[in-house]
Amino acid sequence: NPSSEKYEYQAEVSRLMDLIVNSLYSNKEVFLRELISNASDALDKLRFLSVTEPELLKDAANLDIRIQTDKDNGTITITDSGIGMTRQELVDCLGTIAQSGTAKFLKALKESKDAGADSNLIGQFGVGFYSAFLVSERVEVSTKSPKSDKQYVWEGEANSSSYTIREETDPAKLIPRGTRLTLHLKRDDKGFAHPERIERLVKNYSQFVSFPIFTWQEKGGVTTEVEVDEDPSEAKDDQDEKGEKKKKTKKIIEKHWDWSQTNETQPIWLRSPKEVTTEEYNAFYKAAFNEYLDPLASSHFTTEGEVEFRSVLYVPSIAPMGKDDMINPKTKNIRLYVKRVFISDDFDGELFPRYLSFIKGVVDSNDLPLNVSREILQESRIVRIMKKRLVRKAFEMINGIALSENKDDYDRFWENFGKYIKLGVLEDSENHQRLAPLLRFFSSQSEDLLISLDEYIDNMKPDQKNIYYIAADSVNSAKNTPFLEKLLEKDLEVLFLVDPIDEVAIQNLKKYKDKDFVDISKEDLDLGEENKDKEKELKQEFGQICDWIQKRLGEKVAGVQISNRLSTSPCVLVSAKFGWSANMERLMKSQTM
Ligand code: ADP
Ligand code: MG
Repeated sequence: NPSSEKYEYQAEVSRLMDLIVNSLYSNKEVFLRELISNASDALDKLRFLSVTEPELLKDAANLDIRIQTDKDNGTITITDSGIGMTRQELVDCLGTIAQSGTAKFLKALKESKDAGADSNLIGQFGVGFYSAFLVSERVEVSTKSPKSDKQYVWEGEANSSSYTIREETDPAKLIPRGTRLTLHLKRDDKGFAHPERIERLVKNYSQFVSFPIFTWQEKGGVTTEVEVDEDPSEAKDDQDEKGEKKKKTKKIIEKHWDWSQTNETQPIWLRSPKEVTTEEYNAFYKAAFNEYLDPLASSHFTTEGEVEFRSVLYVPSIAPMGKDDMINPKTKNIRLYVKRVFISDDFDGELFPRYLSFIKGVVDSNDLPLNVSREILQESRIVRIMKKRLVRKAFEMINGIALSENKDDYDRFWENFGKYIKLGVLEDSENHQRLAPLLRFFSSQSEDLLISLDEYIDNMKPDQKNIYYIAADSVNSAKNTPFLEKLLEKDLEVLFLVDPIDEVAIQNLKKYKDKDFVDISKEDLDLGEENKDKEKELKQEFGQICDWIQKRLGEKVAGVQISNRLSTSPCVLVSAKFGWSANMERLMKSQTM
């Protein structure tokens, strides 16, 4: 073709294609999920734009995805009536890695050193368009954007470093708008070109795509009975004694091919919570967020009245990868819809505080404008109300895990998201009452099992007024500190704060259920056992020694005092009442380095 132009892939693309083909060969069928998800994204984009530019729909009003197989030729065609691509977009989108999903996937692959990570990573990221080459020798993408009056064909082959783009000239292949992908399957993968196989994969992977997916199916079942003339040679045997002829009929099953809708498009959040099973919620979660593990909990609710919205929220079962996620979340965890139209997954920060950025879900509002922007969201009173409700629901969900019979679930939650809850204590004092019961610590009486503050309180001595804690860098160093002696002697439980953020969090809380938190390493620790006479006597006896030690240590200490807080150790270094604890000092030092 003279007007066909040849292009080289960006180097990363070739590398990515190699990676995909080499790490996913045992999981080839993901190609269909990826291509359908691209078709669905393209339809989402078109639907979104058509809200303000209805003329975009004029060439083809239906928004759908159609998949046709041809087993004789070993091809699969996937057609969507979405936004399509211009010639330049073909180059930008299919020749370079500017795209979020794939770029993230590459980055994560680079970061992960261990070999086993690959298959997990694939579960977490969409691998995108190039997965088509898992099963295809050659791929044609014929596409028509409403921005362009021409339709273009991108064509690429497996194991090639270049692709071509040409104008579509075959009148039989022209489409009014959207994209048609033709996969020419590899010899060993031609088995995918069967309608039943495709139908099964669509049902498995794409049942929650919100546009109808049609597959080209052979329809049987229309049976007609027709009378047939007897074959004279057979007729003999069927004649009865009287020589009468029996009437003969023959059943003809008429088969024909037609489109048949394969997925259910009613969004799960519009259904009644009573009708949706846990399995369906979990399947939706995995499909919508490209997850491979079930969530720990989910919550489906509708709010009416002042502000109307529907939502399904989830607590994942593992924390996201990467270090900066908590402080600087760029998570795409909340998919925002307005009146069923997908708007964006970029507004997590407007709908949830960052300490709950690990929550995933969909939110569909009837009250926001379709052209909603970050600025509108930030100013909106409606969003403020939504945010409050969402936060409350998130807490209910987490509480549900904490109260569940299955103790492992909360352990798992705490291990993955405990630091988010602690961050919440620092950042959201309004919700302290909801956050504090979720905290877990080791203690002098529970060195291996984490306990809650409620469990601590249940275990308090009848006359005990405070919640005692000591901050240290490990359970081991906490339990060996001399500060503990007196409390152990009196059988008072002491929380071990072994995560650097623990102490800051506790100091932010100040109290829990009217009990003050008391640091047992501070100088004014009062265990309520004053004995004035004894103190006087001790002061007389040891006063001079104290002065002597003070002189020897000079500026290194603020003071030397006689104390009744030790039982076996001769002396202990304590911090001043208003000073930093030793642990805090360690923390501050580590942060200034
Ligand atoms: P991602 O979907 O994560 O962006 P992909 O590799 O799956 O990455 O797709 C790359 C890009 O190609 C998409 O972002 C989109 O711009 C474009 N694209 C792919 N398939 C289609 C399609 N069916 N219609 C329109 N654009 C498409
Ligand atoms: Mg994609």
